[in-house]
Amino acid sequence: MKTLNDFNFNNKKALIRVDFNVPLDEDFNVTDNTRIVSAKPTIIKILEDGGSCVLMSHLGRPKGVQDQFSLKHIIEEVSNVLGVTVKFASDCVGEVAETAVAALQPGEVLLLENLRYYSEETAGDEKFAEQLSKLGDIYVNDAFGTAHRAHASTTIVAKFFPEKKCFGYLLAQEIESIQKVMETGEKPVLAVLGGAKVSSKITIIENILDKVDHLIIGGGMTFTFVKAQGGQVGDSICEDDKMELALEILKLAKEKNVQIHIPVDVVAANAFSNDAETKILDVTEIPEGWQGLDAGPKSIENFNKVVLESKTILWNGPLGVFEMPTFAKGTIALGDSIAEATKNGAFSLVGGGDSVAAVKQFGFENKVSYVSTGGGAMLESLEGKTLPGIAAILD
Ligand code: AMP
Repeated sequence: MKTLNDFNFNNKKALIRVDFNVPLDEDFNVTDNTRIVSAKPTIIKILEDGGSCVLMSHLGRPKGVQDQFSLKHIIEEVSNVLGVTVKFASDCVGEVAETAVAALQPGEVLLLENLRYYSEETAGDEKFAEQLSKLGDIYVNDAFGTAHRAHASTTIVAKFFPEKKCFGYLLAQEIESIQKVMETGEKPVLAVLGGAKVSSKITIIENILDKVDHLIIGGGMTFTFVKAQGGQVGDSICEDDKMELALEILKLAKEKNVQIHIPVDVVAANAFSNDAETKILDVTEIPEGWQGLDAGPKSIENFNKVVLESKTILWNGPLGVFEMPTFAKGTIALGDSIAEATKNGAFSLVGGGDSVAAVKQFGFENKVSYVSTGGGAMLESLEGKTLPGIAAILD
């Protein structure tokens, strides 16, 4: 795996695909600069080598050129984070970009305008990728968040740098974290899969059964498994057409010697509302008019034991409707357990979909080993897919 450390960037121009798709408020202030901060080590290493950086990114989903999606809005924030005055090219290809790159001196950073002003970017257009390739000597991909897309700047451009392409530190770290869970993790390995639906997690479950010793299934998925085994789930979220699949998963897990843990009790509510009436019920005895919206106390205790016995932990998806405080306790308790296991030496990776939002909201960000920066990219990695942006560098 080629990383930044395999290159000396002295007097070289690095063309870096970063993920600066950051949230902006109505005055175009960056409200969360995590993605910029995450790319900093890569940029600083190149500058310290005596090289210069040409940064390319998308921002939002513009339809053609739309000022509100201009990357000019983030120049100041990027400059502040890097501690370097960042230059800006008002186009990401063509004369404007090429002239700005030609004038770039060692130690300088140039930010290109939004890649997605061109539909060729998402189309993975080869000619567009070739134009981009003129803007650097070495191609560095540090954008995990878009690594699952075969776009011009994330994948296609790499073919114009057959010997001179590598992963940035952030992307390398993402790859290593996934490998630690899926391939080289110390046993027992545990995956916690929560969230709303079996249908959106099924490929992950199937892939992961070959990798883990324990699998906790929580959140809305619980009820498809419970009903499939004859339990009464009342009005809880349930995918009847996935019940057979749930039984197959349970059978497969047995064959593969994977222990599956499902909530035994729930916090049930008489409405999908934070102010609903609630009671603790056995997960197999939820009457009509009631729905399970969080893991109950016995389940939390069971999960805590499994988590503390594990040496490698993957967490994707909440155990309940964590957006409502009444039903966030299970997710918070799980986070506490994973934090404790991590403190005791376990490796813990959190990521995929909305998991990162939950982890940040409850302040677990610095208490787990690694929080992935990619939602969709992480989910596809867990499904066992080779991401095109990663394959293009390994090629
Ligand atoms: P996902 O994107 O699949 O990880 O699902 C996350 C969503 O699952 C969150 O918005 C939660 O509110 C929701 N969720 C978790 N548990 C339940 C439940 N018991 N009933 C309904 N929705 C749930």
